[in-house]
Amino acid sequence: MQVNEQNLINDLSAMVRIPSVNTFGNADPKRPAEEEMALFFETRMKEIGLDVSSAHVADGRRNVWGRLKGTGDGPTIMLAGHLDTVGVPGYENPFEPTILDGCIHGRGSCDMKAGLAVYLEVARILVASDAPLNGDVIIAGVVDEEDAMIGSKDFGENGPHIDCAIVAEPSKLAISTAHRGQICLFIRTYGKSTHSSVPVNGINAIYHMSAVIDALQTYANTLSTRNPDPLCGRPTFSIGAIKGGEGASSVPDFCEIEVDRRTIPGETYDSVSSELTEVLEQLAASIPDFTYEISAPSLNCPSLKTDMSSPIVQAISTAVKRVTGQDAEYMTFPGSTDAPNFGCPTVICGAGDLAQCHSINEYVPISEIRSAALIYLETILLMQNQPTLK
Ligand SMILES: [Zn+2]
Repeated sequence: MQVNEQNLINDLSAMVRIPSVNTFGNADPKRPAEEEMALFFETRMKEIGLDVSSAHVADGRRNVWGRLKGTGDGPTIMLAGHLDTVGVPGYENPFEPTILDGCIHGRGSCDMKAGLAVYLEVARILVASDAPLNGDVIIAGVVDEEDAMIGSKDFGENGPHIDCAIVAEPSKLAISTAHRGQICLFIRTYGKSTHSSVPVNGINAIYHMSAVIDALQTYANTLSTRNPDPLCGRPTFSIGAIKGGEGASSVPDFCEIEVDRRTIPGETYDSVSSELTEVLEQLAASIPDFTYEISAPSLNCPSLKTDMSSPIVQAISTAVKRVTGQDAEYMTFPGSTDAPNFGCPTVICGAGDLAQCHSINEYVPISEIRSAALIYLETILLMQNQPTLK
């Protein structure tokens, strides 16, 4: 299998030059964050000869994917990545790719345009090699991973059938089959506004929120005593923002906190929602005039737990060993990702170090993206029960 390093460098550099910063809820329909990236990925896939499709997700934001048809009965394996990046405040020349000490630098180089460049090279090699594949291979770019993950959610719900997937989030080529989920939402208390000279005539929403915060702190403490998941550890809860009130001279009728709940396998949005409702209902039963609201989730990313015995985990473990000469390393991925949204056994394994992602000096080692290409190729061939091309 010949990986053309120049192809990887060219494609990754071209993608770093395309700003695709997630707008985090402030979308400009005239200039959707990822559209230029979607067009680039789409064009390359067509040049390679894949059967290309796309799906409108929101505000002109599209998921794009290309299919290489297999001959028949094998599993459909997908290589998926996100088209967006985080922001660039403080980053000097974020969209100017530079090669330094064997690494490509620039926003998105590591998280995760490197993965997308690798997928294109994998597809090129498979097409050129004429390897008889039993199952289809799909490579996909989805929108909005850095915010609400609407791209992968839509793909999982409405996209083509897939049997298993690899997500090239940066893991230094370690294999991750698990991560905690993340639920973010708002909790609001409502009161009655009045002049602060006669507070007795009002209902102070901030006082009520103060009771909520105390109760939630107790709730957070109880989470730290629950049985841990072997890979994901324990669930956590944190309050990240608070707002309410207009100023000292009026009793506030509104207060809001934004909370973050990390879930472990077995926990769902419904289970978390009913726990929070129970905490608030207890307050409602004991505090006069207590009125509250729990918002719909602003983020609801499930936890990931892919069975270690599933064929994709077995295949990529073998592939890592063959390509690197070392036993595969395993890690629990620290953050939440698109992976659980695809609704099939999915592993995370990609070039680059998570430590550089989201930083103002993002980079990825070229040697690792080269290895990643070989690992994905090997994995695909193992999944097809084909002899390797080595
Ligand atoms: Zn990422």
